[in-house]
Amino acid sequence: MRIHKNDVLELVITEINEDGYGVVKIGNYPILIENTLVDEKVKVKIVKVLKRLAYGKVLKVIEPSTHRVPIIDKLGTQIGTTPLQHMAYQHQLDFKAELVKKYFESYQELSDIEVLDTIGMDHPWEYRNKAQVPFRKIDGKLETGFYRRGTHDLIPIEKFYNQDPEIDKTILIVRDILKKYHISAYNEERHAGLIKNIIIRRGYYSKEIMVVLVSTHKDIPYLNKIVEDMIEHVDELVSVILNINPDVTNVIMGDEQIVLYKEDYYKDTLLDNEFYISSQSFYQVNPIQTEVLYKVVKDFAHLKSEDIIVDAYCGIGTISLTLAQDVKHVYGVEIVEDAIAMAKKNAKHNNIDNVTFAAGAAEIVMKEWVDSGLKVDTLVVDPPRKGLEKVFIEASVKTKPHKIVYVSCNPKTLARDLYQYTQYGYQVIKTQPVDMFPQTTHVECVALMSRIEE
Ligand code: SAH
Repeated sequence: MRIHKNDVLELVITEINEDGYGVVKIGNYPILIENTLVDEKVKVKIVKVLKRLAYGKVLKVIEPSTHRVPIIDKLGTQIGTTPLQHMAYQHQLDFKAELVKKYFESYQELSDIEVLDTIGMDHPWEYRNKAQVPFRKIDGKLETGFYRRGTHDLIPIEKFYNQDPEIDKTILIVRDILKKYHISAYNEERHAGLIKNIIIRRGYYSKEIMVVLVSTHKDIPYLNKIVEDMIEHVDELVSVILNINPDVTNVIMGDEQIVLYKEDYYKDTLLDNEFYISSQSFYQVNPIQTEVLYKVVKDFAHLKSEDIIVDAYCGIGTISLTLAQDVKHVYGVEIVEDAIAMAKKNAKHNNIDNVTFAAGAAEIVMKEWVDSGLKVDTLVVDPPRKGLEKVFIEASVKTKPHKIVYVSCNPKTLARDLYQYTQYGYQVIKTQPVDMFPQTTHVECVALMSRIEE
């Protein structure tokens, strides 16, 4: 059967893929349909036909799944911020644990590893502590919102549902201040105009707010007045940054920036420590679940007072400082220099002195540490989505850590890297998914490995 655009078909969904699309295969040819669940019978209109797959849009759910729940955020599925919201939350948690198992099953050595039940949230909405929204002119009006999934068409949005409502509020305040002074919005097609993005970050406990304006150019009219208005209207504002990003790129922030108000940081607390967070630093976006995640890390690490720990990909030192009080020494490494400056400041701020932070690529610094004879008891890694470099794995096993705790935001690279470690005499003991990104398909997971002693 050949599929054509605008065809209307009745189909039964057979699986949900890792991006949250329901899948139906006609022969070997998959049709992807958002807002569907396994076993649902749906009436679908084909909206896009490509060589290797097609996309369909649901016209009607004829036989709904028992796991279906009403949609809360009407636009969230279209923009992709809440693509799983039609799936009952417990089922989302099960789906994520299953996804981890599925990736493990592609390696025989990993196929019977215990994957614990995903730890979810009591209120799985309004969790994000950070928003980055495009600023554009649509039909003559300056708007903030989000792109339609897979496009650069901005849909104006005032309520996001997945982030701290105070952040929603602040976006609108900043938008209206920019409107008041007729500041131009970036136009992607013509690569013209000034403001590209507005970034808001807010401390969950501290309530402190940081505003970053990303602009193509540093000469913005009425800049002083804009900042004065922000100080007047945004409660607990502690930092305003102008970030310059003149390039045609999908990377949001540029390298050059100017501090317009106070300092380039805001603060927040995680478990026992308070952290300074700068605009260029990574910080986990779900503050409630980050504490859960770090407790799992601590539990898996089973610390002893004489332990030497390496925390690779340490960001502003959040995991390092969480573990430091229970061990002899923690070595942290991170590639963003500014994050390491924050990590050092954070150690001092919390009166922790048994930590050493190094700026550099983990794969290079780890090798230097190994060559200088560092003995590691427990290795903690928390790499970005692409996972660990082979050279990192090779260097790390030379120090013969007894335990490795792997924090992963991508089960695919997690499985690949765990398999690598099994080739160097490690066994995987257990894995614990933690839902850091409810209503999305993102899966965060902590794995514990131990060295098989000869
Ligand atoms: N553990 C921290 C940060 C985890 S995010 C936390 O929980 O907050 C991953 C971090 O890895 C980011 O801070 C990123 O800047 C850093 N990173 C990316 N590539 C790296 C590399 N090659 N070497 C060291 N750090 C890297």
